[in-house]
Amino acid sequence: MLADYRNFAHGRHNWIHKRGEQTVVIAFLTPESEPLARRTLALLPASVRVLRLTTQSEGAAGTLELLLQVFRVTEAIGKKVGIDPGRPGVPGYGRRIYHLGPVVLPSQHADTAIEASVARKLAARNSSIRSEDRESVMAARANYVTALRQQRFGAFVADFDGTVVHPGASSTTKLLPTVAALLEKLLRARIPVYFATGRGNSIHGVLTGTLGKKYHPLVFVSYYNGSVTLPLTETPPSDTGGPHHEVFEALLRELKSDPVFARRVHPVNKSYQLTLKIKDQADFPLAAARIRETVLASFAEQLRVVESSHSLDVISRATSKLECVRLAQSQLVDAVPFTIGDRGALLGNDYDLLTHPYSLSVDAVSASLTSCWNLLPPGVRNVAGLVHVGKSLVVRRGYFTMKAP
Ligand SMILES: [Mg+2]
Repeated sequence: MLADYRNFAHGRHNWIHKRGEQTVVIAFLTPESEPLARRTLALLPASVRVLRLTTQSEGAAGTLELLLQVFRVTEAIGKKVGIDPGRPGVPGYGRRIYHLGPVVLPSQHADTAIEASVARKLAARNSSIRSEDRESVMAARANYVTALRQQRFGAFVADFDGTVVHPGASSTTKLLPTVAALLEKLLRARIPVYFATGRGNSIHGVLTGTLGKKYHPLVFVSYYNGSVTLPLTETPPSDTGGPHHEVFEALLRELKSDPVFARRVHPVNKSYQLTLKIKDQADFPLAAARIRETVLASFAEQLRVVESSHSLDVISRATSKLECVRLAQSQLVDAVPFTIGDRGALLGNDYDLLTHPYSLSVDAVSASLTSCWNLLPPGVRNVAGLVHVGKSLVVRRGYFTMKAP
């Protein structure tokens, strides 16, 4: 039984009165609650066993200290009765209950997805509390969905990390079967698939290892955030032969003069792109700010910074994932490319890709009302979001359309 001290006065003591011999009172004492706690405990019969867990810290810090004490008490009791509370032995029905997961009723499904997509756009526009913007956003969403449904798409352009695979997946990973099935369905219908990625050659093995070889000529990879686009049948670009090696070295020299950078950032000059991995995510805001400031202060005319789920990439100002979209469009006559990514907000590495007028995000969105919408139901994102969008595609020979996304 759990009760605060004043609620304890409302009949909770009856338990002790009836079952005192089998009961232990565990009392939490913080600087704020101590006066009332002591007066309450003093009134319990002397025969009642009381364990006092005490902290001298106030507020949230006190809560954390007491939580640690609770772990120790649990451990001690577990040892005494011969149970590991971390591995108590789960019955089959318990496991089935655990895996039930969240359930959204079909009738609520559409409404909640609309609400969620509008809420995401309003948040990106910093106007969640403005009712007039809400009306504009609702109307823009309806127009966007109509435009998507009426369009013929002749190419599928996808970001990779956070969209097709989980962020930072290794080069030996395989695409999930549901993702591979979606891509092969498009490829079987002779619809080319482009990957606009911040990666270099590490994407190549994932794709060749998963997608059937007969599809490779229709698969294109736009490496290093759009720097170089090649068919999957060709060897990926070497990360030593790119055009920007020297300017990245100059930037690195400047960044390394800041001790924050030396300790917390792992840089790799890939010639087309300078990848900066921040070792501890807690350091990300500080390190990212220093990198952005340095680029803006000394290299603004040549370089810019884009953010992925696991790194910051410095690229040439002329480089853009939109280059991949232009290339895809150049091969189409009466259809347009469809683009999808996860980092659609201004600083993200899919911002450019998702300025395309037929684009969906599986995570963050920009403030634009005419691109980069996330139409997914609440709780569905990233790779699961891609699979969800895939279910709304109607694939025909050479093109696809989209029903209610
Ligand atoms: Mg991504």
